[in-house]
Amino acid sequence: MTNYKINKQGFYGKFGGAFIPEMLHANISNLQNQYLKIMEDPDFQRQFKKLLRDYVGRPTPLYFAERLSAHYNTQIYLKREDLCHTGAHKINNTIGQIILAQKLGKSRIIAETGAGQHGVATATVCALMGIECIIYMGEKDIERQAPNVSRMKMLGAEVRPAKSGSKTLKDATNEAIRDWIDNPVDTHYIIGSVVGPHPYPDMVARFQSVISEEIRYQLIDKTGKAYPDHIIACVGGGSNAAGAIYHYIEEKNCNIILCEAAGKGIDTDHSAATSILGSQGIIHGSLTILMQDQEGQITEPYSISAGLDYPGIGPLHAALIDGQRAEVHSVTDDEALKAGYQLSKLEGIIPALETAHAFAVLDKRSFDKDETVVINLSGRGDKDLKTYIAHL
Ligand SMILES: *Cc1c(COP(=O)(O)O)cnc(C)c1O
Repeated sequence: MTNYKINKQGFYGKFGGAFIPEMLHANISNLQNQYLKIMEDPDFQRQFKKLLRDYVGRPTPLYFAERLSAHYNTQIYLKREDLCHTGAHKINNTIGQIILAQKLGKSRIIAETGAGQHGVATATVCALMGIECIIYMGEKDIERQAPNVSRMKMLGAEVRPAKSGSKTLKDATNEAIRDWIDNPVDTHYIIGSVVGPHPYPDMVARFQSVISEEIRYQLIDKTGKAYPDHIIACVGGGSNAAGAIYHYIEEKNCNIILCEAAGKGIDTDHSAATSILGSQGIIHGSLTILMQDQEGQITEPYSISAGLDYPGIGPLHAALIDGQRAEVHSVTDDEALKAGYQLSKLEGIIPALETAHAFAVLDKRSFDKDETVVINLSGRGDKDLKTYIAHL
């Protein structure tokens, strides 16, 4: 079996690494040298755990979904990341990175955001710590995601528009990188998923691994067994999935199921199904699988859910898929919407559209009656009501 542990250079097998411009070298190597030392420090751990408990609201419940289980004739448990402060798992990572930034002596935070969810999670922890916060966001996304822009501003962040290229996430990322090159000493760049140059994928996965750490003891309590037969999560960059599977990667009896966004379908040019449409290449400093054209230019992805509308996947997921450790399903907009409506009616939980992609798997393959299935409920759907209602 392939080894899915990261090596010193930041590779999961052949995927990962840090392919960065010379000018970022100092920032990245400083982070590479420091992150594990800081994260393993007892004082860091104490602060991180305290905030996860008292501010984020952890541990989040592991909930046995009785009606959903009856409907699909299997045993379904939901990991309730939707109950985290700000409504999704993203805050687990930003809490970790803001404490890390303080330990590194940084006084200024930058981040990129597409839909604004990571921007809000970053602005939130900057407000919490009283640290200056600048969020780069594509001009087009600023228009499309007005409520999140208002949230970030109310939280005290400055939202800077990226006006180049397609005026979306990748352009915001370019602006953030430019800023970091210009401000290497006082600034920390908070990346929002398990993507980017090493050490980001590993660092973010470790912050999110609190999810599977909790699932393990919660499952023992409820079923007597530490692992489920199947664990299911949606994948944009891959951070909620990485957190949900982190402690199960070496557990061969636990089947990993990843759900990516097929958009309007994998045979249309409106899709974000990276595992099918993508090929090996470098995106945001990492060697992974991404959607690109013949010349290696990144293809504009599409999904109804802004959080899955990303043209790549993190290197860990690329390795898991390449090594066939994970089963992947591509879920269309329509399938996700249907799953979102169904969960709302059967369990009284309105999921984020991203999360709804994970639930759509229940219609795509069957599970045995006695099998334990854990679905990572990555976020709540309040932000998506307009889209849900428009497709009623
Ligand atoms: C951002 C987001 C995702 C996708 O990001 P990952 O890094 O793949 O987890 C999934 N679900 C929700 C609720 C999100 O906000």
